[in-house]
Amino acid sequence: MEELSSMVDNNTIMDLGKCIECGAKETDGFSCYEMFQFPLIWEHNDPELYALHFWLVSCYMIQHPSNYTEEGYKLMVSLFTEAYDNEWPAQYILRKNRDLNTKIDKITNPLPNDKRKRIYRS
Ligand SMILES: [Zn+2]
Repeated sequence: MEELSSMVDNNTIMDLGKCIECGAKETDGFSCYEMFQFPLIWEHNDPELYALHFWLVSCYMIQHPSNYTEEGYKLMVSLFTEAYDNEWPAQYILRKNRDLNTKIDKITNPLPNDKRKRIYRS
């Protein structure tokens, strides 16, 4: 299965040890994006962890909205909210997530990563 995170350039920009977008401090020199890669690898061969894939990816993406178009961001937030509020089972979420992935060209920000508009947080 294609993973949302592997299809797009969703790197983050760190400045003075902090992510300019979500405001998190880097950990052991790792940026948000680099930290995000660890659980993606852990879950790869662990079905129990993989069941939480959607939550992992969507939380990361929602905290770094510059990766999306405005429409794409709204779609992701509404999928997240619906899934959480209705306690959707993992299989159903993954199916919905796949549906979203088919619209990926409209969802992800077409601008090169370093040209994206980011709302800075202090
Ligand atoms: Zn961040």
